[in-house]
Amino acid sequence: MSTMSTNSFIVLPMVILLALLVCGIIPLLIGVYVYRDAERRGMNGLLWALVAVFVPSLIGLIIYLLVRGNYSELKCSRCHAPVKEEYTVCPRCGAKLRPSCPNCSAPVEPDWKVCPRCAQPLPEVENDVVPPVRPKDRTLGKVLLVIILIPVLLIALAIFILTAVTSSNVANGGPASLGQISFDSYFEKQEDSEIREAVEKWIDSFAGNTEHAYALMYEEAGDDGNTYYALVYVPGAGDSPSIGFGQSNGLWGTTLRLELEHTGNNGSLYCVKSSAKHAPDLKITVDGQKIKCDITMVDFNPVIVE
Ligand SMILES: [Zn+2]
Ligand SMILES: [Zn+2]
Repeated sequence: MSTMSTNSFIVLPMVILLALLVCGIIPLLIGVYVYRDAERRGMNGLLWALVAVFVPSLIGLIIYLLVRGNYSELKCSRCHAPVKEEYTVCPRCGAKLRPSCPNCSAPVEPDWKVCPRCAQPLPEVENDVVPPVRPKDRTLGKVLLVIILIPVLLIALAIFILTAVTSSNVANGGPASLGQISFDSYFEKQEDSEIREAVEKWIDSFAGNTEHAYALMYEEAGDDGNTYYALVYVPGAGDSPSIGFGQSNGLWGTTLRLELEHTGNNGSLYCVKSSAKHAPDLKITVDGQKIKCDITMVDFNPVIVE
C-alpha cells in the first residue's frame, strides 16, 4: 500500500506540470511567434495571434501558416534587409531593386517602352537591377515538426517518470535475493526425490551446451503479488568472484539482472528469489557479454532456500 501512495505523490504533480506545459506554455509560445511573424509581414499580428491560440487543435495556427504565404517577406538580395514590393531601391544599401524611369524615378516594368508618368522613352535594358529575393519559407515544416515532436516528447517523458518511480520503489524494498550452490551440495540438500530427478533431467538436457544460460522458474501466487524462484545455470560462470545482482520494475515488467565473471567453472547453480507481479525477465551477463537464457516454467520449487 505504501508504494501506491508514493506513486501518486510523485506522479500527480508531474501530470499537473505536463498539463500546464501543454495548456499554458505552448499556446503562449505560438501566440508570441504568430504575433511577431504577422507584424513583420504587415498582417494584423494581434488578430492572427488570437486565431492561432484560441482556435482549437492548432487549426488556427495551421490556417495562419497557409494564409501568410501571400504576405511573404521580400529581402534585398545584396544586404538581406527586408524590403517592400513597391521599393525601387533598398533603403539600407541602396541596391536598385527594380527598373525605374531615369528621368522621374517612377518604378517601371522591364518591358515598358515609355514611362507612364513623364512620357520619356525608357532604355532597353537596365543592367544594374538586383531584384529582391523571396526567402524560401521553411517555417511551416519546422512548426509541423514541433507539433508532432511535442506530444512524442511528452509521452517519452511520462514513460521515463513512470519507470523511474517504479524502479525507485524496488530500490527501497529490495524484493530479490540470490544464492549460489554447487551441483554436489544441491543434490545433497534437495530432499524431494521428484524434484531431484526433474533437476537432473534438466541438467542432462543442456549438458555440453555452453552457448546459453538455463533457468527453471517456479511461480508462487500470493495475495500481495507473486514470488518467483529460479534455479539458474550459467556455463563457465560458476563461483564468480564478483556478482552484480538486482531487480528493476519498469513499465514493461520486472527484470532480474545477474552480472558474473567467466571462471570456467561449470559446477554451480544460482538460486534466485524475486517478488514481482509477472514472471521476471532474466538478464544475464558474463564479463559484460549478454547471454541468452532459456527459461522453463515448472510446477515445483527447484530452489533450495538456505
Ligand atoms: Zn540592400
Ligand atoms: Zn518618368
